[in-house]
Amino acid sequence: MERFTYTYPTKVYFGQGAAAEHLPAELERFGKTVMLAYGGGSIRKNGIYDEMKDLLTRAGKEIVEFSGIMPNPTYAKALEGAALARERGVDFILAVGGGSVIDCCKVISAQAHLGEDIWELEYLKNDLPPQGIPMGAVVTASGTGAEVNSEAVITYEEKLWKGSVYGTFPSFAVLDPNYTLSVPRMQALSGAFDSLSHAMEIYLGHSDADNLSDDLALAVIQNTVVNMRRMLADMGDIQARGNLMWDSTLTETGIFKVGRSTDFQAHHIEHQLGAYTDCSHGQGLAVIHPAYYRHILKDAEEKFARLGRAAFGTDGAQAAVEALADFIKACGLPTRMGQLRSRVEITPQVLRQVADTCNLVETGPRTLSRDEIYEILMECM
Ligand SMILES: [Zn+2]
Repeated sequence: MERFTYTYPTKVYFGQGAAAEHLPAELERFGKTVMLAYGGGSIRKNGIYDEMKDLLTRAGKEIVEFSGIMPNPTYAKALEGAALARERGVDFILAVGGGSVIDCCKVISAQAHLGEDIWELEYLKNDLPPQGIPMGAVVTASGTGAEVNSEAVITYEEKLWKGSVYGTFPSFAVLDPNYTLSVPRMQALSGAFDSLSHAMEIYLGHSDADNLSDDLALAVIQNTVVNMRRMLADMGDIQARGNLMWDSTLTETGIFKVGRSTDFQAHHIEHQLGAYTDCSHGQGLAVIHPAYYRHILKDAEEKFARLGRAAFGTDGAQAAVEALADFIKACGLPTRMGQLRSRVEITPQVLRQVADTCNLVETGPRTLSRDEIYEILMECM
């Protein structure tokens, strides 16, 4: 184990009815003006919007609405939200949605209190913003674990860049598996695969052979696969939804990341693919993972074999990766570039640009060259 300090700032309320039970007391702790932030309006159809508005009104809050936060939230949208928060003197931000809404709000919160551009602060001055406007998250689409960390994945369209901007930690997160029931099938499976990817990317970083964090990550990998299968059989299985929701959140609390390094090379490739194509994060990962793992199989044979034994009951590294590929297919997730929704045609030229601009990870089983990343991407065509 490497040395570490672990502390956690986000309180999690899990279970059916958690918002009605706990939001009133949470809201009492913060000021009068609350930004109610959400995405494209699905919460207006499934009743969650009305429930939130009612809870805020009964708590005596003045509501400032900020809607239309898109999947793969843009930097421009975060700046728009920050300007509104400043102008209206917002005291608290309630992010109601999935990872995109929550991530956008983390940046809105930090940027609203900052006298300079947050991207320039982090990427040109190598600094982090001070505490922003307090915020809380009500999760309506599970998978990213965004509700329990300060990292926001943002697409900076003008720069053709997608990556992490560090904003504000949510003070609390409400996880009600009921809220995820109206999420469309493909989106629910994509979210669950993102969560599985997080656990695998953590597990495949450098660690001691008997590292506790590895064992915890493996338990979550196994549980995620089991519950994705249950959800495939019955999309209304609330127990499976709840398990997946907690798998996703727990993985991003950072508890499995202590005492070791992480990989996240598949994520870095996907982020850059997303910057060029605007494809779904979970679906991009589903396409990339098997091809990436076939390339690094020999560099982490023992680890892959353990992963396969735990998640798929297979024997050996090769069998583990092929079982993962079969599982992705069985879930109906995309397995080729051509199956991804994309705003541009995915050509070898686009993939070359993705390979030439994505981050290279030094803490995975092996550091890839840009040519090898291009090869991996081309194998997904
Ligand atoms: Zn992810």
